[in-house]
This record gives sequence, C-alpha cells and structure tokens, in this order.
Amino acid sequence: MSNNKPMPVATEISAPFWEGLKARRLLVQQCGACEQWLFYPRRHCPACLAPDPAWREVSGQATLYSFTLTRIPTLPDFIDEMPQKLAVVELAEGVRINTTLVGLEAGQIRVGMPLQPVFAQADGKGTRLLRFTGLEQDAAALEAPPVVEAVAPAEAHDNRVQVDCQDQAALQALVSEQYSDWSNSLLVDQALIDAFAELSGDDYWIHTDPERARRSSPFGGTIAHGALVQVLQSRLKLALGFEITGFTTQINYGSDRLRFPAPVPAGSRIHARARVKAVELNQRGTQLTLEINTHVVGQERPSVINDLVILYQR
Ligand SMILES: [Zn+2]
Repeated sequence: MSNNKPMPVATEISAPFWEGLKARRLLVQQCGACEQWLFYPRRHCPACLAPDPAWREVSGQATLYSFTLTRIPTLPDFIDEMPQKLAVVELAEGVRINTTLVGLEAGQIRVGMPLQPVFAQADGKGTRLLRFTGLEQDAAALEAPPVVEAVAPAEAHDNRVQVDCQDQAALQALVSEQYSDWSNSLLVDQALIDAFAELSGDDYWIHTDPERARRSSPFGGTIAHGALVQVLQSRLKLALGFEITGFTTQINYGSDRLRFPAPVPAGSRIHARARVKAVELNQRGTQLTLEINTHVVGQERPSVINDLVILYQR
C-alpha cells in the first residue's frame, strides 16, 4: 500500500486495542468495580474512578448511531475515499466508537442499522483499523484494501470514426464544446512523485516531504508536480470517438495553453477527458488542437488543462 495516510500511534494505555485489531479481535475495556464498559481506552473508570479497567473481547455487534458523508476530505490523503462515510457506531455493550463505514453506498446507510466490524488492513506491517459495514456485506472481503480496477475507456477502439487528415468538413465536425468520456484512471502515489523528483531534480519539500508538508503545506500534505501530472497524460487512454488517418507523421507540436488549476495530492487517482478545440489546415499540414483536462477522480476542477497541438503531415 502506498499512501501517506496517518497511522495510529499506540500508547501504553491504548496498545492492547491496536494489538487486538492486528489479531482481528475487538477488545474493549470494562471496569472491574462497577462493570461499566468504556471507550476510548483509559486508565480509570469514568463512572466510579476505579483504576485499571480490564480488557475484554467483544463480538463487535453494533448499530449505527450517527454518520456524515464528507464533501471535503478530512485530510487531502483521504481524497481516494470520497465521500468518506464517517460514523459513530454504538456497540452492543453501549460504548460509542468513531469510525468509517466501508462497503456501503450512501443510499444503503441509515441510522439504527445493524453493523458488523471489519478489521481493515492499513499497511504492510500488520496494522489494522476498525471499520464497520452492514450485516449483508462480506466483512472478510472488505479487510483487504479496495482494488481499483483499470477501467477501460468507454468506447472500444473499433467504434471510432475514421477521419482523413485532408477531409476539411469531417475534421471541422470534430470540433465540439462537449468533452469525451473519461479515460482509465491512474494512481499518483508518493513513490511515483519521488521518482519524478529524482528524474527532474525538482525535489522541493512540498512534493517529497510528507511530514513537513502535513505541517506547513497549504494543501495539508504532499502534492504531485504539475509537470508530472501533465506527462502522465500518456498513460491515460483518452476515450476519443475518432481516429485521424491518411498521414505519414504525427508530431506533438506543443501546447497553446498549459495550466495547473488544482493540486493532485499524493495518493490520488487521476483521469482525463478531452475535446477537439480547433482544426486548421495550413502549409505545415493538419493542425488539431486537443484540449485535455486531467482531474483528480471525483473532483470538479481540473488539475491540468493542456491545449495540445498535434500536427499531421502526409
Ligand atoms: Zn467503574
């Protein structure tokens, strides 16, 4: 797993809880004197002040007490979970736990619904986080991090309209205000950003130092270089509905406009869509301007706007 999400730091008092999760067991404290259950972990019972409550394993049987769907991630690193389904869950023992719901669509969530625990894998070191899901869901399957399938462009290549690079009328008909469908998506993780920092020599801390970026960056974490996101366009298969034919060479002539309006936080997935902005037949050949907009998946504002000029020559 490659992300910069904050991980729990066990204290002497909370360590048994985290160790329990690693073993896929839910441990909650109970006061030996008054039998009150307590959560979060504490040294004294909040009801009778008796010291050293005992750790007991509980079933995890629970109901949803309250929840909210986020519109803005709680930290930029959580952008891949949008909307986050933040919840307060009440265990059968009566204690309430702040958590995140997994495996449920927004429309399936209702206050009071019965829930079961998910011991979600959080890193390669055995750390697990306590999540909850519905009783109908497969809790064991939800333990592994979600595998994001590479989504093929909506349009198969076979369906593309072939347009000859000399056919003025057909070329002009491609010009549109309408964007294509989305491309496949691609994960931009810290490892990729670090590799680009090394390659380009731009190793500014806002890209490469997650600790410092969390403290000092206006984005709350590291972000990808704009230039990196721009070149990753090559890995995104644009779902263009056409194919230009009849040329011998295709030249990347440059860019009429290149903007980086929104950051790409480390750990985000990006995808792109495009439209033909202009076509011009001149003495150099057929010049097609493709406006390519790359977005963080789920984000309205593009991260890169590139008016790419492609030259087709016979
Ligand atoms: Zn007590």
